Amino acid sequence: MSGNPVVERVGVIGAGQMGNGIAHVCAVAGLPVVLVDISAEALEKARATMAKNMERQVAKGQMKPGDRDAALARVITGTDYAGFAECDIVIEAATEREALKTKIFAELCPKLKPSAIVASNTSSISITRLAAASDRPERFIGMHFMNPVPVMKLVEVIRGIATSDDTHAAVEALAKRLGKVTATAEDFPGFIVNRILLPMINEAAYALHEGVGDVVSIDTGMKLGTNQPMGPLELADFIGLDTCLAIMRVLYEGLSDSKYRPCPLLVKYVEAGWYGRKTGKGFYDYGQDPPKPTR
Ligand code: NAD
Repeated sequence: MSGNPVVERVGVIGAGQMGNGIAHVCAVAGLPVVLVDISAEALEKARATMAKNMERQVAKGQMKPGDRDAALARVITGTDYAGFAECDIVIEAATEREALKTKIFAELCPKLKPSAIVASNTSSISITRLAAASDRPERFIGMHFMNPVPVMKLVEVIRGIATSDDTHAAVEALAKRLGKVTATAEDFPGFIVNRILLPMINEAAYALHEGVGDVVSIDTGMKLGTNQPMGPLELADFIGLDTCLAIMRVLYEGLSDSKYRPCPLLVKYVEAGWYGRKTGKGFYDYGQDPPKPTR
């Protein structure tokens, strides 16, 4: 045993919504970051998003302009995994497709130093299965950041069946250095947060489907009755109804329990292309201000 590895240099794969946020918080915490995407356009957009989000932190007095410049300078972008050779950890935040992720790990691992940790930000794919596609299941772990990464406090840490205690400790220390709080989950479908959150959203869709309440009564009831900042249907629109349905299917299939069956109304909204905010319509219609409930 070599003791807990300390992370001094971070790699991030995928410069989308999550990847740019992960690079952002690492750079702000003083860690050099290598950010890789297959799309040069995504990398350019990520850099612009990081600059804009850091500017917001400067405007709020949370960061000095000089620190923002130093943080942005710590992020190196590129399209080649060779840039990860010196990284102590690489966090994968590419598109949520298992075949794509396993291909990434097969290409990535030979480019890494033997001690490097590989983490995946997947919301729903089994960490144990992904680890098996790498050459280092004991140094493979789930690091599930929440969206938007610079704002949300939690990192859900998921241990695969082979994940070592040293890897777990190193990732907990990294999350702490990023100013985050961790909750550790074993590797079962949905982990902790989505295992509990998505059935609540699905139940809200059932309540709507059965006419127990309309969109506004369900959201108002849960917001004011259970002290949540957003109602479950509003939150579902924010996450994306397609994503909500995909996670419900992972729970239903992975746990083989009918209590996780996706609500037929949720399925119908997704079939209609009503994915929520990102398509302009979901449980609410965002073409109007304020958004108009669809039921
Ligand atoms: P996104 O679509 O915004 O970004 C994905 C990026 O991956 C794209 O820029 C794409 O070009 C890139 N990519 C695809 N193939 C690649 C490859 N072979 N090498 C390098 N880059 C590649 O997606 P996102 O919302 O940022 O999600 C990324 C991951 O984070 C997914 O696993 C998702 O489940 C997870 N996640 C998402 C959220 C969320 O709210 N969006 C929350 C937690 C976790």
